[in-house]
Amino acid sequence: MFLAAAADDSLTDFFETSTWSVIRNLALFFVVVFWLATAYWVLKDARRRIDDPWLVAMAAVLGLVPPFLGPIVYLFFRPPEYIEDRRERELEIRAIEERLAEADLRCPVCRGHVDASYLVCPVCTTRLKQACVECGSPLESIWQACPYCATPVPAVSLGAGDEVLQPLRPRRRTAGDR
Ligand SMILES: [Zn+2]
Ligand SMILES: [Zn+2]
Repeated sequence: MFLAAAADDSLTDFFETSTWSVIRNLALFFVVVFWLATAYWVLKDARRRIDDPWLVAMAAVLGLVPPFLGPIVYLFFRPPEYIEDRRERELEIRAIEERLAEADLRCPVCRGHVDASYLVCPVCTTRLKQACVECGSPLESIWQACPYCATPVPAVSLGAGDEVLQPLRPRRRTAGDR
């Protein structure tokens, strides 16, 4: 009986000592630090996933209150991917679409399929591209120099844009033309 009372006394003494208050303050301090850390994490994560600044602000508030529960709720509702990844994916899709459009090049006159390397349309003989004067490579209309042999494209050929769409020769065939 005496022992138990002594133990009880020492226990109440312990809770009244400064050691206990130090432990209690430390625990409180860590809880607050952890709370702020989770709130900060929510803010950082929301910035990487959400475009709208108002929604980011709402997520930040949710990260703060209710403490610890807010971040968990945020986890349920956050967008599944980062803005960066989304942009990258959109760029990839656009690149694929451009590649597909390139593969589907058509002659502006007869709509026949042509290749990017063709100088003239094989179906209606429309001139599609200028040839490099040095190496004969097909040149895009905006190129200032041939990328294959570094020969500058003459300025004259740039001005003659109308001519590009004209057929090389009229498609007339006489009986003796064989
Ligand atoms: Zn054609
Ligand atoms: Zn060339």
